[in-house]
Amino acid sequence: MTGTARATRPLHAPMPDDGGWTSYFTHLECSVTGERIAADGLRGLSPAGKPLLARYDLAAARRRVDRDMLAQRPANMWRYRELLPVPHADACVTLGETMTPLIALREGGGRLLVKDEGRLPTGSFKARGQATAMSMARHFGARRVAIPTNGNAGGAVAAYAARAGMEAWCFCPMETPAAHVGEMLGFGAHVFRVAGMIDDCGAIVRQGVERMGWFPLSTMQEPYRVEGKKTMGFELAEQLGWELPDVIIYATGGGTALVAMWKAFDELEAMGWIGSARPRMVAAQATGCAPIVRAWSAGERQATRWDNAHTVAAGIRVPAVLADFMVLDVLRDSHGWAEAVSDEAILASQAVVAASDGVQMCPEGAATHAVYRAALARGDISRDERVVLFNCATGLKYPMPDQAGIIADPGAVDWTAIGDPL
Ligand SMILES: *Cc1c(COP(=O)(O)O)cnc(C)c1O
Repeated sequence: MTGTARATRPLHAPMPDDGGWTSYFTHLECSVTGERIAADGLRGLSPAGKPLLARYDLAAARRRVDRDMLAQRPANMWRYRELLPVPHADACVTLGETMTPLIALREGGGRLLVKDEGRLPTGSFKARGQATAMSMARHFGARRVAIPTNGNAGGAVAAYAARAGMEAWCFCPMETPAAHVGEMLGFGAHVFRVAGMIDDCGAIVRQGVERMGWFPLSTMQEPYRVEGKKTMGFELAEQLGWELPDVIIYATGGGTALVAMWKAFDELEAMGWIGSARPRMVAAQATGCAPIVRAWSAGERQATRWDNAHTVAAGIRVPAVLADFMVLDVLRDSHGWAEAVSDEAILASQAVVAASDGVQMCPEGAATHAVYRAALARGDISRDERVVLFNCATGLKYPMPDQAGIIADPGAVDWTAIGDPL
């Protein structure tokens, strides 16, 4: 019997586990008006034009799941399925969303940790969001999806669309790193480079919805990406023995990850798994594109569009932020802040972490390290605090150092050029 069940399990089934699957997802709610929306089909923004958030019956979940049960489950994001929207195992579109390691950097004396999201499918945390978003899109019957992307989101959408047997269209700015564009093409997506920014790409997606029959997966414009990204917060809490760090620094583009982790912490508290203590949440941006930092400094709850955005950290080249008020609320409620660092500081951090610790930071991840260093120097973070830097993607999809030595004649090696003898 079990053999038959396994043989008929669809390709999209998650990694095998203890078999039980219950989601306590109940409905959606407008993030501004609180209006309750049924989760009975594909959903975009709320009637008020604002992001929708998924809600759960946490009281029921709390009665039936505990932390010891979790500990028995496979080390992937579906271990938190009670607090995810996907209704049953066979609805999962999955590529093996493994738990990601926390790596202590030498300079922090064990207190400075990098959560390395580069280990996920397609090499970025975007896989977490697309695993849930694509699962729900497929569950509700979407056949074609479209996304504006700076690279990593498009790579994830293209891969999960291939996995789900769906068609994907990806629109990215001209400057998108070549490896990301190639990745999307390789997964069979329809890919267009756009002479504009990611919000221009977003406008193309909106315009094409009816004509092309697209389900748009744009940041915060459907409710389920945030749900997958919550697992970063769940995982971090579990890995630290259900004690959150003092500070989390996150490279902020559209801001979903900050919003998602904050939501995750509230849900964990409602489950009785953590207390009321929260980390200071810090948004790292680049000086060439810092709309959240500008709004934060001005004490605003809305961010205006950043003109002529430019930075090597492609993933945070996001000039207009739909969830601006949600991001700014998280920073304020957590007693955190927003801070911009230059591309020079980003590249210097990337080089120093790679060479001194063997950790491959993407430029966005390196921005969090540059913010850490600046905040430490000012005294806004102290050495005895536990700080988590999110490295949201592998650095391997971005331009790499390329100046290796050359040995023109392997038969006549100039040993003085090789290095000092031991
Ligand atoms: C998308 C992305 C970000 C920004 O994430 P948001 O949740 O949209 O703020 C940061 N770093 C990398 C590597 C990304 O791909």
